[in-house]
Amino acid sequence: MPTSYDSLGAGQIARLVRDGEVSAREVAQAALDAVSARDGDVHAFLQVTPELALAAADRVDAARAAGEQLAPLAGVPVAFKDNMHLVGTRTTCGSRMLEGYESVFTATCVQRMLDAGCLPLGKLNMDEFAFGSSTESSYFGKTCNPHDLGRVPGGSSGGSAAAVAAGMLPLTLGSDTGGSIRQPASFCGVVGLKPTYGMVSRYGVVAFGSSLDQVGPFGRTVDDVALAMNALAGRDPRDCTSQRWDVDFCEHLHDGVEGMRIGIVDAMNHAQGVDPEVESAIDAAAQALCAAGAQVVDVELPHAPEAISAYYVLAPCEAFSNLARFDGVRYGYRYEGARDLSEMTSMSRAIGFGPEVKRRIMLGAYLLSSGVYDKYYYPAQQVRALITQDYRDAFERCDAILMPASPRTAFAFGEMSNPTQMYLSDMFTISINIAGNAGVTVPVGVGADSGLPVGAQLVGPAFADDRLLRVAATLQDAYGAAPVARAFSGKGGELR
Ligand code: GLN
Repeated sequence: MPTSYDSLGAGQIARLVRDGEVSAREVAQAALDAVSARDGDVHAFLQVTPELALAAADRVDAARAAGEQLAPLAGVPVAFKDNMHLVGTRTTCGSRMLEGYESVFTATCVQRMLDAGCLPLGKLNMDEFAFGSSTESSYFGKTCNPHDLGRVPGGSSGGSAAAVAAGMLPLTLGSDTGGSIRQPASFCGVVGLKPTYGMVSRYGVVAFGSSLDQVGPFGRTVDDVALAMNALAGRDPRDCTSQRWDVDFCEHLHDGVEGMRIGIVDAMNHAQGVDPEVESAIDAAAQALCAAGAQVVDVELPHAPEAISAYYVLAPCEAFSNLARFDGVRYGYRYEGARDLSEMTSMSRAIGFGPEVKRRIMLGAYLLSSGVYDKYYYPAQQVRALITQDYRDAFERCDAILMPASPRTAFAFGEMSNPTQMYLSDMFTISINIAGNAGVTVPVGVGADSGLPVGAQLVGPAFADDRLLRVAATLQDAYGAAPVARAFSGKGGELR
């Protein structure tokens, strides 16, 4: 939005629209202008949808003119990771396989944001099929970190984090299977919540690892994330894992942490591979929570170091099965020169999928083959049970656990050329998907060496996400809301 608007949060925009200080159309236009001016540099968007945004804005303005009560997020621009279906848009998952694929239905999470009055601005870039931590693997080109255009925004929801960080709009949705909301939020200096598994419907979100995937919001403040959760959370008959939820995320958000116990896992926070600037930022965040009245207690998660190994068995197995549908027959890229069905399917997949997707599919196929299955898949499930129990035990002793969201700040493009090195960047996030509980990234300033945003991660027990956000809000009060990043030239560029 033009500079006067771009630092406004969702709550502030909704209030201005409700009070008639500004029309929803003006807000939509301002956000579209901000995307035009900035996304040439950042490339967060895969598709911009002015017609959808302006039509939604006109509906809000007409409702207001008719004296109707406006929905809580009426007039707030939003955009969606490109693995979420929305009729009237393409849903590509950042893959050649789905290039030009038009959504034929709308995901529940998307619909709920629209029902809450949001204005859909478009679809956001991501690692191909959400496999990755840098958004470099998108078939449609990389997204740049708005704090430093030579660095990655994180991933796989890199477009969702970057668009918010660059002040193009106040809210976006992403998905998180092993860290894809929390790690890019950390790299881009914004707030990102992975809710408890079952809090938000997965219906209409292209599946990666069905037992791990969860949708969540990005915002520049915890308050905006809480507002989005009020729209998103709850039972959806179309996702049998989704749960009923009637709690208002905003009601006790600013009640503070007096008397709460914050768990610290010393062995994890100071583990090998964690940058000193991240270690000291997290230590300072612990002190800030103490100063606000919380008590810090030591807890242990003895099996958490095995989470990455377990994840890279379980997630590829689930992905192998979920991606079997992209066969060139029903939808997706089709190789036209084949002599028979088998050649058509294999060539379609060989050309339609990029290297990381193929690596995961082959890994999943191998791990699920007879003889191999017993050696890896079962033990990985056993590790999953142990990690889940670790968290249960830890939450007997504390209300939330504080740890880094990522062992380091945003890395440069191409710096992580070895896939296993990239996999390690999720060392703090993956165990939370494995256990199913909630995690939120909150910006806690910039690293002393890199000058780039550092994110603290707060982990909470299952279905206590509202209380977790309360701790996050306290941390935000100590550090202030995330500033809009301004490394882009603002000269504009080509939009898609
Ligand atoms: N980086 C992790 C992976 O590549 C997590 C991705 C995600 O959460 N979607 O699997």
